[in-house]
Amino acid sequence: MTRKKIVTVIGARPQFIKASAVSAIIAASGALDEVVVHTGQHFDANMSDVFFAELGMAAPAHHCDVHGGGHGDMTGRMLIEIEKVLLAERPDAVMVYGDTNSTLAGALAAIKLHVPVAHVEAGMRSFNMDSPEEINRLLTDRVAQWLFTPNQASGAHLLREGTAPARIHQVGDVMYDVALLHGSRVGAQGGMLGQLGAAFGIEPGKYVLATIHRAENTDHPARLTAIVDALAALAKDIPVVLPLHPRTRGVLAREGKLAALERAVVLVEPLGYLDMVQMEKHAALIATDSGGVQKEAFFYRVPCVTLRDETEWGELVEAGWNRVAPPRDATDLLAALRASLGTAGKEVAPYGDGEAAARIVQRLVADLA
Ligand code: UDP
Repeated sequence: MTRKKIVTVIGARPQFIKASAVSAIIAASGALDEVVVHTGQHFDANMSDVFFAELGMAAPAHHCDVHGGGHGDMTGRMLIEIEKVLLAERPDAVMVYGDTNSTLAGALAAIKLHVPVAHVEAGMRSFNMDSPEEINRLLTDRVAQWLFTPNQASGAHLLREGTAPARIHQVGDVMYDVALLHGSRVGAQGGMLGQLGAAFGIEPGKYVLATIHRAENTDHPARLTAIVDALAALAKDIPVVLPLHPRTRGVLAREGKLAALERAVVLVEPLGYLDMVQMEKHAALIATDSGGVQKEAFFYRVPCVTLRDETEWGELVEAGWNRVAPPRDATDLLAALRASLGTAGKEVAPYGDGEAAARIVQRLVADLA
C-alpha cells in the first residue's frame, strides 16, 4: 500500500495540545505521513514552542508566520500561505482542529483545491454567532468530509443541521486522550505549584485557578471589569492564580487595570501544559472562559465556573461539574464563584475512553486506502 500524506494545519495553543495525541498515532501507523503547518497565530515561546517540546511533537515543516490583524486580515493571509503549502505538498487530506482562524483558513485552503478535510472536534456549538469561534466551526464543519466529534451532543448538532450521518464519526475527545497520556505525569511536588508555594504560600487544594482570553470578554470592557473585580474580591477569601494570556494582558495594560489586579491576585505568565495540568489538578476551583480548560477541570474532578453566557459543554453543567456565570456583574459573579467552591458533580463519561486519536487515524487510513 502506498503511504498517504496528511497536512495538519495548527496555529493556536489548544491545537498543539490536541494534535499531539493524533500526530503520535499517525507517526506509529506506518500508513500515513504527516506534514505539519504552523500558521503562526500563537507564536510566543510560552504559547507555542513549549507544547511541541513537552508533548514530544516534531517541529512543524512549514511556518506561515501569520499573526495579528483583524479576523479577515489574519484569516486571509493564512489562506494565501496555506494554499502555497498545499500546492507544493499535494496531500491526500488536510486535518484541522477546533475553531480558530487557523482552522477555518486550513479548511478553506484545502477545499478550494479539492483536498478533503478532516475536522477534529467537529459539531461543537455555542449558538452564539457573535463569537468568532462559532463562525469558524460552522463553516469548517460545512466543508469537511470527516467530522470527528468529541461527544454525543456534537453529533446531534450536526444531524440537526442536515449533515449526512456517514460524515459523522463519534470518536471521543482528543483532549481526554492527552489528559490520560500526560496528566498522570504530574504530581503536587515541584513545578509551578512548588514555585508558587515558595513565593506566595499557595498550597495544593487551597487556591482558585483562573484563565481569561476570549474576545467576548477581552473586547468588552464592562465584562472584563466584572471578571477582574470578582476575582479580586474572591482573592480576599482564597488565593487566585491567573496565568495571563497575552491578549488579556495587553487589554488590561491599555485600560490601566493591570497594576490593581496584580496587587489582588497572583498573576503569572501563560503556563506550559504540564504546569497548567498541575495547577488544574490541585485547584479548589477553576474559573475560566476557555473551552478546553472547562473539560480539563472535569477530567481532574475540580468544580468549574464558566465566565461566559453559554458553554459548548452542556453535559458538564447537567452533571453538576460546571456552572455558567455570565460576566455581567461582579457581585453576581462573586456569588457564583463562592457557591461553586467545595461542590462536586455526578460521575459521567461523555468524552470517550482516551482512544479518540487512534479511531481518527484508523478511519483516515481505511478511507484513504
Ligand atoms: N493551557 C496551558 N497554559 C495556560 C492556559 C491554558 O497549557 O496558561 C492549556 C489548557 O490546559 C488547555 C488549553 O491550553 O489544554 C486550552 O487552550 P485555550 O484556553 O487557549 O483555548 P480554548 O480551549 O478556549 O480554545
